[in-house]
Amino acid sequence: MSNYVIQGATGDFEVVIGLEVHAQVTSNAKLFSGASTEFGAEPNAQVSLVDAAMPGMLPTINEECVRQAVRTGLAIGAEINKYSVFDRKNYFYADLPQGYQISQFKHPIVGEGTIVLDLEDGKTKHVGVERIHLEQDAGKSMHDQHPQYTYVDLNRSGVALMEIVSKPDMRSPEEAGAYLTKLRTIVRYIGACDGNMEQGSMRADVNVSVRRPGEGLGTRCEIKNVNSIRFVRQAIEVEARRQVDIIEDGGSIDQETRLFDPVKGETRSMRSKEEAHDYRYFPDPDLLPLEFDDAFIDAARESLPELPDAKKARFMTELGLNDYNASVLVAEGETADFYEAFLAAVVNKTGKKPAEVAAKAANWVLSDLFGALNKAGLTISESPVGAVAGAELLALIEDGTISGRIAKDVFEVMFSTGKSAETIVEEQGLKQVSDTGEIEKIIDAVIAANPNQLAQYRSGKDKLIGFFVGQVMKETGGKANPGLVNQLLKPKLDG
Ligand code: ADP
Ligand code: MG
Repeated sequence: MSNYVIQGATGDFEVVIGLEVHAQVTSNAKLFSGASTEFGAEPNAQVSLVDAAMPGMLPTINEECVRQAVRTGLAIGAEINKYSVFDRKNYFYADLPQGYQISQFKHPIVGEGTIVLDLEDGKTKHVGVERIHLEQDAGKSMHDQHPQYTYVDLNRSGVALMEIVSKPDMRSPEEAGAYLTKLRTIVRYIGACDGNMEQGSMRADVNVSVRRPGEGLGTRCEIKNVNSIRFVRQAIEVEARRQVDIIEDGGSIDQETRLFDPVKGETRSMRSKEEAHDYRYFPDPDLLPLEFDDAFIDAARESLPELPDAKKARFMTELGLNDYNASVLVAEGETADFYEAFLAAVVNKTGKKPAEVAAKAANWVLSDLFGALNKAGLTISESPVGAVAGAELLALIEDGTISGRIAKDVFEVMFSTGKSAETIVEEQGLKQVSDTGEIEKIIDAVIAANPNQLAQYRSGKDKLIGFFVGQVMKETGGKANPGLVNQLLKPKLDG
């Protein structure tokens, strides 16, 4: 990918980006209470006495959340800290009944790791992760429910979040988008977070600064709570441009927290550094330091599935897929699983080796199946044509029963009716004609009916062979074996 530069009147600028991602941990219960975390419940239906901060209530750590944070750390090759500490981060807000959030500050559960970005043209880039810590989510203030009052929904209060903090290693909106995409893929693969940005299960604080090439880091602004990958890219573009304009006008950047307004396409100030909170962090006296042993880490490691990078490498080296197809297939665990089940079924039906049919199988999934699913607005798990049914279709092409052209029509009928490929081929009489005698008869008839074209062909217009192939296919309703037609036609035309 070419370097992303922002052109100013006085020269080029580079953008520097670091992301703080909040990812909701997949867990039935909250970080320090047994209340449910299910999305979409009635307001305040899922609030325990702990979440409501009733006096005397004590937090109890949810081991599943700890396990998921450790698994996430392992999945990005990070250091796991066997000793970590929960701190109180103090601030007052209507949706924070405790008056503090329990978080981790000096001693996070996960240390430095790496996320490998998949960029254009098969290029990759390594982005550092500074740390991952566990913390509680706050509740939600609802300003639009009553003309005079603000309501508070505490369902989210106490839900476990992982805050995943990157190093300032990204240099373009595309890299930031690729980072979020990859992080989302990884947490979804391992089941640590559902990655659903619309429901707020994943949101990003976007830190942006600009500098002239070769200079040290510039002053950053932090854009809070951006909830889609597209908005992250847009927010970086407009924020970087805003900063460049200020610097070129002789001004300087104030470190501040800003909000992105996607409707107006601008960021605006929320609070400056001077107004920034002093959170008065200190270790939560209700909680012991969190400690676990190597066995806990080993068990977490063993519970990890094959990760997307490893799967992609295997698809390329063992199956011979190209970089692009391998990337698209591994981007969602569901797609990769479907492809592997499909490939296994094709191997089973045709008796061929996986590497012999892997590329064809990938093309079928990515163009035919995905094309039909997109048109119908369905996901792969809702596909009316399953892996085994699809493999039956591919096997009919492989053994020459039908041509690739006819297979497209058969697939359309499979998709809309749910009938098997074999039934459709049988019912509609679509078997490919591979009988030499029969094809020869048709060729002779076509040649006899087109003397002008024959004369032109013989006077040197070689390309007219395509015309004759087309006529023969037309006569057979597309069912003639195209390889055989070509093979038989040429000697007859040449006379
Ligand atoms: P804080 O906790 O006060 O927000 P951190 O040092 O933890 O500060 O940094 C938060 C995020 O800001 C990190 O993701 C980091 O990569 C990013 N960051 C730090 N310096 C810069 C910079 N100059 N430009 C862009 N991003 C930066
Ligand atoms: Mg921050």
